[in-house]
Amino acid sequence: MIHEIDPHIFNNQFKKNSELRDDSLIFIFGNENETSFGGGAVMTKDHHIPVYSDLKFRGAEEVPVFLFNIDGRDCFLMKHVSDGLLKEEEGFVFRSFRDVRNVQDIPKHEHFLAMTAFQLHNWYKNNVFCGRCGSKTISSEKERAIVCPSCGHTVYPRIVPAVTVAIIDREREKILLTEYAGRAIPFYALVAGFTEIGETLEETVKREVMEETGLKVDNIRYYGSQPWGIVDDLMVGFSCDLVGSNEIHRDEEELKLAEWFSREEVVLQPTDLSLTNSLMRAFKEGRL
Ligand SMILES: [Zn+2]
Repeated sequence: MIHEIDPHIFNNQFKKNSELRDDSLIFIFGNENETSFGGGAVMTKDHHIPVYSDLKFRGAEEVPVFLFNIDGRDCFLMKHVSDGLLKEEEGFVFRSFRDVRNVQDIPKHEHFLAMTAFQLHNWYKNNVFCGRCGSKTISSEKERAIVCPSCGHTVYPRIVPAVTVAIIDREREKILLTEYAGRAIPFYALVAGFTEIGETLEETVKREVMEETGLKVDNIRYYGSQPWGIVDDLMVGFSCDLVGSNEIHRDEEELKLAEWFSREEVVLQPTDLSLTNSLMRAFKEGRL
């Protein structure tokens, strides 16, 4: 999965005194009008995230913002890099997250860091002004927080829980796979959705399964979780057992397809990055 980056060591601890070095990774994002799932693009140089020495010799003036640390190296965000500073003929290119995921031509740990950096980039961008009093905000020097100097309102990064669900028909040894409507490149997925206010994760599972397929489930079991920063998510994976009828009433707005598949019939996703694919693989290999 995307966050499995061993032997690299990700450290998300906030640092007051970060160290900007020539080999610090620098994250720059673009294509901000792209609002669909996985929208947005990250600056790359020769199939890597650029490092500070790539930029400072080109005259970038902005003081980068500390993000996190990888393998003892601090990583930073640059919010405003002037047009034309980073040229394509010198290897700089904005790559959409969708493209990076499909092609997988940058190192996996840099891909994961870019998704996580994008979450912080959006958090900074969406909190320039205080949501309570409208004053201009500043970054805290003590912790990873945005504070309002006028009213003291403090904003931390928001993490949005969502579930992905392997529904298993124990009697027929089948799993329910879906295809989302409106996805450009089709591949199989599972029933999934965001947790609503006042809801437990188990209730989210039951509600999403009922809404998308009309099925009833029980015996909900935790499988694992996965950060998915490009949409601020913490995905939580569950498996559960079908109760009663296996007749599917598909939500046609959400899903293009919802069908039962035997273990042998399961077609995995083109990449092994998602928790959803990990659940599908576990069923295919007889581990669910
Ligand atoms: Zn305020």
